[in-house]
Amino acid sequence: MSINLCWFRSDLRTHDNLALNAALAEGPVVALYIATPEQWQRHDDAPIKLDFWRRNLLTLEKSLKEISVPLVLCQVADYAAIPGLFEEIVRKWEVSSVYFNAEYPLHEARRDDDISLFCKAHDVNVKVSHDQCLLQPGSILNNSGLPFKVFTPYSRKCRSMLYVSETVESVCVSAPLAKPLATLDKQCRLDQIDWPEANSSWEILWPAGEKYAQDLLAKFCKNVVTDYKKQRDFPALDGTSTLSPWLNAGVLSIRDCWRKASTWHQGEGVETWKNELLWREFYRHIIFHFPHISQNKPFKTNQQHVPWRHDEKEFTRWCEGKTGIPIIDAAMRQLLETGWMHNRLRMVTAMFLSKHLLIDWRWGEKFFMQHLVDGDFSANNGGWQWSASTGTDSVPYFRVFNPVTQSKRFDGDGDFIRRFVPELNDLDKKSIHEPGLFKPDEYPLPLIDLKFGRERALNAFRV
Ligand SMILES: Cc1cc2nc3c(=O)[nH]c(=O)nc-3n(C[C@H](O)[C@H](O)[C@H](O)COP(=O)(O)OP(=O)(O)OC[C@H]3O[C@@H](n4cnc5c(N)ncnc54)[C@H](O)[C@@H]3O)c2cc1C
Repeated sequence: MSINLCWFRSDLRTHDNLALNAALAEGPVVALYIATPEQWQRHDDAPIKLDFWRRNLLTLEKSLKEISVPLVLCQVADYAAIPGLFEEIVRKWEVSSVYFNAEYPLHEARRDDDISLFCKAHDVNVKVSHDQCLLQPGSILNNSGLPFKVFTPYSRKCRSMLYVSETVESVCVSAPLAKPLATLDKQCRLDQIDWPEANSSWEILWPAGEKYAQDLLAKFCKNVVTDYKKQRDFPALDGTSTLSPWLNAGVLSIRDCWRKASTWHQGEGVETWKNELLWREFYRHIIFHFPHISQNKPFKTNQQHVPWRHDEKEFTRWCEGKTGIPIIDAAMRQLLETGWMHNRLRMVTAMFLSKHLLIDWRWGEKFFMQHLVDGDFSANNGGWQWSASTGTDSVPYFRVFNPVTQSKRFDGDGDFIRRFVPELNDLDKKSIHEPGLFKPDEYPLPLIDLKFGRERALNAFRV
């Protein structure tokens, strides 16, 4: 009996999944998921994110069952151990083809290249689909045939090409397996995988499953997207989709988002939202073309001279939301409590760390990954390098956001600050943004004089 193996990674859904659809078209399908706890640790994957993935695997298993696809779970230490597992698979099972959706960060791309080579050497077909993006990274080039380094022309080119994108909506039922599969040495049940410890509140904050994600998308398209342009920068409002965790785990397809937003509405709200989806694509395109950024390096190699500080004490106060700058503390506490942070505040906190404190942006990038439920290497690295002015198309180094001004502008009534920094609850809407109004035993004194921090950053960046 010859089987088609569909290897799931960050595409935990049955709906509109290119690799799965391709496999189902060919005959009996077996789904495979490989847990790699040591790799998760090396990649700083947050416990909240891994718990979200675990719960989505549970719902995926059920959806796959409905289309007669068994899900086989295995655990190995890291990517280096995956070829060994495939050796056992091709020895024990009669595999005709392996299907998977490409992933673009350097380690994932190398892992996939290794498996493709292995399969070819063992007479097994490999079919790679490009499912994570609307347009395949590598396929969007400027008139000189080079990758774009600036977002606006990139997005214009994408939009001019997008009408040709194919969408695959349907999922058919797999042909049944003729006989049971031999068990693999590293095969395990979901509860036998070495997941980090989970908190019971995470399940309520971030429910699993394709149905939940589809409903959230529909609600956003129906009720929120028209006002997205006006509301998306105000963290106290529910002005953005909060779909990032489901998108990054692949519980929701990017094509679905694009299609549904376009079907429900037209206008500047939806166009602004689609632009954000293209930012997601842009950063994937960047990591595809410029692998040096996957090696802890700045995109702009001429920014290597910045004397980044490595002050553990100041960094810890930033991590804990105890800087004494109310909007920074509220944002960092939102991250610690919920595993998510509003986009405006990701920019404000990242810029505060990398500019006012001049602390190495890679420390912040790592800390975000260790706590975000939607942690995604390309978007996180892109966001950090944008804020630290080391990235492609990043903010110019002399445009340093003042966190107090940002706070007054985007949280005018202080509602967001009050939600996460209850010690400031009684302050009126004017004072709540200001650092230094409290005794140190009530709320920390500001970690830094903002004017001093800004000047120090400007001097450090100037060549
Ligand atoms: C320092 C920093 C770190 C970040 N880290 C991550 C991360 O680890 N994972 C992540 O998904 N996003 C990251 N972002 C981008 C952005 O903040 C989040 O995607 C967004 O806040 C998610 O909320 P949402 O789903 O409500 O977004 P919406 O505003 O509803 O946007 C829809 C989708 O578009 C994509 N998107 C939106 N803005 C961006 C952006 N600036 N860059 C890339 N994609 C975008 C996301 O997939 C998002 O879900 C980071 C941004 C910064 C500045």
